[in-house]
Amino acid sequence: MEKYLKTKGRIFNIQKFSIHDGPGIRTIVFFKGCKLRCKWCCNPESQNFEIQQMKEGNKIKTVGKDVTVEEIVNDVLKDMPYYRRSGGGITLSGGEFLCQIDFAEALLRVCKEYGITTAVETTALASYEELERVIPFIDTFLTDIKHMDPVKHKQYTGVDNTLILENIAKIARDAKELIVRVPTVPGVNANEKDIEDIAKYAAKIGAKELHLLPYHRLGQDKYEGLGREYTLKDVIPPSDTEMEKLVAVAQRHINCQIGG
Ligand code: SF4
Repeated sequence: MEKYLKTKGRIFNIQKFSIHDGPGIRTIVFFKGCKLRCKWCCNPESQNFEIQQMKEGNKIKTVGKDVTVEEIVNDVLKDMPYYRRSGGGITLSGGEFLCQIDFAEALLRVCKEYGITTAVETTALASYEELERVIPFIDTFLTDIKHMDPVKHKQYTGVDNTLILENIAKIARDAKELIVRVPTVPGVNANEKDIEDIAKYAAKIGAKELHLLPYHRLGQDKYEGLGREYTLKDVIPPSDTEMEKLVAVAQRHINCQIGG
């Protein structure tokens, strides 16, 4: 246990009282580093593993800090009464927690020792050997499928989806619970065919639910703060009516909702 408590990793935020990333009231730990470069990413400061400077209004903010598992767990434990009452717990998000597998495994092991319920938001892009190290300590997997077409997946995220889809099927087989989520982006996948293809796949592998997350522009200012261009500035978020139509299409195959 001592070895795991002292394990260090790099995060860029801890967000308390979230009700969106897993069941109940949760503390979200945002890991630094991700292998994808989704064009709609609302946390561009998460992508690079290096500690960065980001402009926020007139201020310069340092993004990223190194912490021990013990420091995080001490913070997370403060909200234990809320987790117990709501069925919540900790969610590892990012960035991508699988990019820091030793830190992630240690954190998840210690959370389980303390009886904290665990969830992860993940791209599932890692070797399956790495995933097998953490699956026993995860109660809920929230895993994105951004596109079923490997060419389009690469065009919009920078990586092919072959390994991702293979891993998601194995997670559905081996993990306690898998919910598939789709960032639903006009011009990328917010159409009936692409959503139906994803819904069919999620149903086939045995995912519990499908959650469609409507595209939004909340991260746009951060791109400017990092000196980067936001390439989706002409994309308009989908309307409620458009989202409801897509949910109805997905519902033919799997239990589906907007958000989650
Ligand atoms: S997988 Fe998530 S964190 Fe990584 S680039 Fe895509 S949206 Fe951002």
